[in-house]
Formats: sequence, C-alpha cells, structure tokens
Amino acid sequence: MPRLSSFREMNLVQNLASKFSEFGTVDVLGEVDHKSYSLPIHSFQLGSAEKDKPVVGLFAGVHGIERIGTHVVVNFLSTLAEQLSWDEHLQQLFSEVTLVAIPLINPVGMLLGKRSNGNDVDLMRNAPVRSLGKTTPLVSGHRISPKLPWYQGPKLNSMELEIELVSNFIRETIFGRPFALTMDIHSGFGMQDRLWYPYGKTKTPFPDVGVARKFNRLLNTSIPHHVYKLEPQSAAYTINGDLWDFLYDEHRAEHTENTYVPWTLELGSWNWLRKNPKQMFSFAGFFNPILPHRYSRQMRRHRNLLELFLRAARNYKSWS
Ligand SMILES: [Zn+2]
Repeated sequence: MPRLSSFREMNLVQNLASKFSEFGTVDVLGEVDHKSYSLPIHSFQLGSAEKDKPVVGLFAGVHGIERIGTHVVVNFLSTLAEQLSWDEHLQQLFSEVTLVAIPLINPVGMLLGKRSNGNDVDLMRNAPVRSLGKTTPLVSGHRISPKLPWYQGPKLNSMELEIELVSNFIRETIFGRPFALTMDIHSGFGMQDRLWYPYGKTKTPFPDVGVARKFNRLLNTSIPHHVYKLEPQSAAYTINGDLWDFLYDEHRAEHTENTYVPWTLELGSWNWLRKNPKQMFSFAGFFNPILPHRYSRQMRRHRNLLELFLRAARNYKSWS
C-alpha cells in the first residue's frame, strides 16, 4: 500500500489549506475511508459570500490517475492568495465575485493511482442520469462489474460519497447565485485541449447553449489564438451518469431565474505522448505530462482561461 507521506497531491492541497485560511475559507467536506486510510476532501472559498454575486467553481481530481488537473487548480488558488495580499485590483474583483474549489475530489483513487474511487466506481459515471442517446459499450458507463473500467456503481440511485459531497457543496455555493461558471479539469483524451459544455447524456443541445456560444465568442476575442476547442461533451461520446448533467438539470429545475454553465476542461494528453513516447511505458504517462518543461507549460497554459472565467462571471450582465 502507498505511504500517505509520499502522497504528493494531498500534501499540496494541505499546504494550500494551511496558508489559504488567511485569505478565504477552507473546509473539510468529509473523509473517504478505504482500508486503513481516511482521506479528507478539502474545499476552498475566496471572495464575496453574498448570494447575489456571481460565482466561479474549479474542480479536479475526479479521476485519480489524472493528477495534472489537481496541480493546475492548486497552483492557481495559491498564486491568487499570494496576489490578494498586495493587488488592490484583484481585491476589488473578489468583492464582486466568489471563487469556490475542490482540487482533489477522489483522493483514494489518486493515492492508489487509478481512475475510479476506492469502490472501483467511475465517479464521472455515477450520478443518477441515464444517457438518452446511442452509447458506446463500457466507455459510456455500465453496471456489469467493478472489475471493468467505467463502472457506474451497483444501481441508479447509489451515489458514492465523493459525488454526494461535491453535489451538496455545489448546491450550497453555486445554486441561488445569479450566474455561475464551473470548470472540472480532466486529462487523457485527444490531441487538443477541449472545453466541453453539457450535455454528456445526449446530442440534443442543452438549454443554455446560447450562453456557451456567447462565451465562445468572448474567449475568441479576449484570448485570440487560444488553444481550446469548444464543443458539447456529447460531440466526443455520450455517457451515463455524468455529474455535471445531473447538477445542471437540478439547478435548472429549481432556479429558473439563474444561469449555470458547468464546463469540463479535457487536456489533450495524446500530444504529450506523441512528443515523448516513453510516457507510454507508465500508466500515469497517458494522463499526465512527465517532462518538467511540459509540466510547467501546463501550469502556465490555462491561467488566462481561468482569469477569463473570473472576469466573465464578474461581468456576466454585459455579455451573457
Ligand atoms: Zn477524467
């Protein structure tokens, strides 16, 4: 069994938690037990606590093998916290917008170096949502056996603890806000970085597709030559149990007057493999950049996008 002291990402999150409380709020949403381990899920909140202000949410580590997303979120939060101590412009921004985050949603999976959680459930197939379209065997989610990847869990309404905790956190911090953008960072699919908007369950456009398209225009004009391909998640594949479909639909049903668009940033790791084929000899190499300069590039590469999320949310009335 791996040693907790060498769990790099948990150490990063805990270091962030110890310095972050000076600038914002840190909570432990719960602990996930697995064998002799009990691993916390940390949440972070920065900026205005007023419910009438817009909000941005950052999430990562849903799939334990996709470590790079956790690094991107921790890195961004930690530099924001540092800058808030001297940057009045940023302090002003955060009086008008809230940032919430869970950088490591599946700590057991990340400790063990696998995609699923400790119960072998794929947390991005576990929400109580059924695909309405044509699905791909196994990849779209299945209930055949926890021994096979993309296992959804034993039955439709059996939500794993990690997903319950994230859902409750979103209901508390995102629902009820006039405007919300969230980003859940993954890696391991395709040559290009993709920004996916709902739905994952169907190719039918989701009700806020107009806002997603307006954001696309905002991105094109604010960050020309950006690297992202914007498309609905279902353009890649249709899935069962997508957490963001589930939360989007629940929010839409309960808060008709508010807007919430959950995005997924899927980092195109095949490019790292192409440039460094040796990565193929390690399972983690399929999902994470191994060489130091490529890791640094990932830390830099998404800052503009994350900052645009904050400014876009803050100024949502003028573009959405
Ligand atoms: Zn993933």
